[in-house]
Amino acid sequence: MHSFHYRNGELYCEEVALRRATDEFGTPLYVYSAGTILDHYRRLDAALLPLDHLICYAVKANSNRAILKLLADAGAGFDIVSGGELYRVLKAGGAAAKCTFAGVGKSREEIEYALDEHVHSFNVESEAELEWIDRIAREKGLKAPIALRVNPDVDAGTHRYVSTGRSENKFGIALHHVAAVYEKAARLPNIEIRGVQMHIGSQITDAAPFAEAIAKVTPLILELKERYPLEFFSVGGGIGIVYESSFASGSRDWWSEKDRVAATMTLPLTIHDYAAAIVAPLRAIGLRVLLEPGRLLVGNAGVLLTRVRYVKQTEHKKFVIVDAGMNDLIRPALYQSYHEIVPVREPAGTERESVDVVGPVCESGDFFAQDRELPEMKEGDLAALMSAGAYGFAMASNYNSRPFPAEVLVQGERFSLIRRRQTMEDLVREEC
Ligand SMILES: *Cc1c(COP(=O)(O)O)cnc(C)c1O
Repeated sequence: MHSFHYRNGELYCEEVALRRATDEFGTPLYVYSAGTILDHYRRLDAALLPLDHLICYAVKANSNRAILKLLADAGAGFDIVSGGELYRVLKAGGAAAKCTFAGVGKSREEIEYALDEHVHSFNVESEAELEWIDRIAREKGLKAPIALRVNPDVDAGTHRYVSTGRSENKFGIALHHVAAVYEKAARLPNIEIRGVQMHIGSQITDAAPFAEAIAKVTPLILELKERYPLEFFSVGGGIGIVYESSFASGSRDWWSEKDRVAATMTLPLTIHDYAAAIVAPLRAIGLRVLLEPGRLLVGNAGVLLTRVRYVKQTEHKKFVIVDAGMNDLIRPALYQSYHEIVPVREPAGTERESVDVVGPVCESGDFFAQDRELPEMKEGDLAALMSAGAYGFAMASNYNSRPFPAEVLVQGERFSLIRRRQTMEDLVREEC
């Protein structure tokens, strides 16, 4: 579900015409719907009601402090993967006691910071890291709460760059080895065993891999429960969203069949399907459940607005050159991801033409769509790259010395700037 729709021939987010936001803040511009984010959070929370649970939003998906504050106020915890993310959460008013700290390469400074702030737990990904955390906790006279991240070796059927739960991935500790590492953890004086963690990948559009992973890890957890005072099982995030037809849920369906086939993502995984697959087996385990959704909460809640700069017809193709580039939204270049492209002014007719929508960056990989059937777009027209709320701005860079775009949050009839556009001066500020 999302809150982007046409009204009076114009694309709106909640009660705000998107054109107004671009008039005020220019393009490229990220716009997020607070209502959509909260709706997703509350629906997931409600579906998990049979479980003692905590939703820890994965900050890396979208780490703007306004969004973190929105979720903190709604009661969420946070899944963080760096000291910088912990800093952001605290700045946004989130509680360290609800932060789980993941990542394969935590630095000494990050571990110290997380211990000083008393995070909920460290998700430990190797024996070497476990020893480091123990040593640093000893120096501080503290006990570090930990969960070991288990790699259950399941195939989540997702893009290989976002698969994390296979034995060949760098993440976690192999299932057959993890009991031995718990034994070791129990012997370390400044480690406190609190839980078990896993995270099998991202953009998973089928409930089966989640259920399979839980089933594979359950015997281990039951065994560990006998020996250690386990409190929680974190099942990670990874719930996929619909990219190719998010707009169809609104009023009209104007893509060609060809487009739909070309779209990389297929069946939607609903919150209901997900909960139906995991609630019963997790209840049987009897531990508190932590979830770490990122994309699910924010993905469909954001768009990247861009303006057409030029239209270029070559012998082979028609290129629509827009003012957003791969530095603003890298997902198509990095993962061959599909983003729906929707004109901000509702197209009058049903005519479509095949175009490539590309950015201004000096890379052939800088495209948002190839051979896509779209309504005619002319110089100066505005378009929305849909479902850009997750791993959009968070992955933006200054490549080609392009300033970061601005970000806007819509709440009902109000819209506010939550990050100003970078200036040329910002580009060189840190250089000496
Ligand atoms: C990235 C990540 C998540 C969130 O993944 P989504 O696909 O955005 O839900 C959750 N947990 C861990 C450990 C992660 O690295």
